[in-house]
Amino acid sequence: MSLHIRTPLIESRPISKIAGARALLKLENTQPTGTFKIRGIGNLCQHAVKENFTHFISSSGGNAGYAAAYAGRNLGVKTTVFVPSTTPADAIAKIAEQEAEVIVEGDVWDETDEYASDFSDRVGGLYISPFDHPLIWEGHATVIDEIAEQIEKPDAVILSVGGGGLFCGVNEGLQRKGWQDIPVIAVETEGADSLSATLKAGRLVTLPKITSLAKSLAAKTVSSKVLEWDKKHDIRSVVVTDKQAVAACFQFLDDHRFLVEPACGASLAVPYDRAEVIANMQTVVVIVCGGIVVDIEKLYAWKKLLGF
Ligand SMILES: *Cc1c(COP(=O)(O)O)cnc(C)c1O
Repeated sequence: MSLHIRTPLIESRPISKIAGARALLKLENTQPTGTFKIRGIGNLCQHAVKENFTHFISSSGGNAGYAAAYAGRNLGVKTTVFVPSTTPADAIAKIAEQEAEVIVEGDVWDETDEYASDFSDRVGGLYISPFDHPLIWEGHATVIDEIAEQIEKPDAVILSVGGGGLFCGVNEGLQRKGWQDIPVIAVETEGADSLSATLKAGRLVTLPKITSLAKSLAAKTVSSKVLEWDKKHDIRSVVVTDKQAVAACFQFLDDHRFLVEPACGASLAVPYDRAEVIANMQTVVVIVCGGIVVDIEKLYAWKKLLGF
């Protein structure tokens, strides 16, 4: 049995009206972990259990760490989550709630990640990247299997990109389904636009630093796998502002009563605010990736910070 659930796909009347296209929402925010991440990380962890791994090690103070902790608890495997010192206390508390051991190590994620990977080599545990593993992509691809069971072929899939795990999984799923001609609209925020920079350059680009507040998109370098998908599929990179992403979170809260992170608001900003990207399309699917590192106070604080 998988650790993720089959999520609803609903038509949004308010978003469709604004976008001028039928907007279907794949509600990954309703996963037990609040994001799609359990699809891929759950798949990786279930394989690891078959190979007798007895310790999971993650390097994320956000949704990937939470998904790893959830997988560990449900599979009865000890889980250690290394988090950077910038991780909010409530995010740490949530991961601990899933019975994982949480260790603060490093000031930025890159340092934390190196530590986690060295630690797992030392203790013989399973290192869980937040986005960069074939079994993670294989698990994320199930989101497309479900969409294909739920609707006829759409005209585009809209998703957010951090390190590119969801992106690689969706492309894999489309390929498997014979839907490789569907455009993938890959959305990032300014200051976390490592995919956009990489696709423009045609080679992996590492951003000097992350300036976006959409922390779940804050990978300085995307997975090298994205370049392979760019050769095979119609990839359309879109970069929105933090303000567009946060404004989309507010509008989505009013329209559908779901609270999501700016990382997810970035995708929602396409139909809400950048509808030219989907001009002449009939039906688009937005992957509502969700996110647990948000509450109403944080959302208001971001709004204030951005001056609107
Ligand atoms: C992880 C995450 C992303 C980015 O996913 P990648 O696989 O790193 O590209 C986007 N939004 C949310 C809410 C996430 O948790």
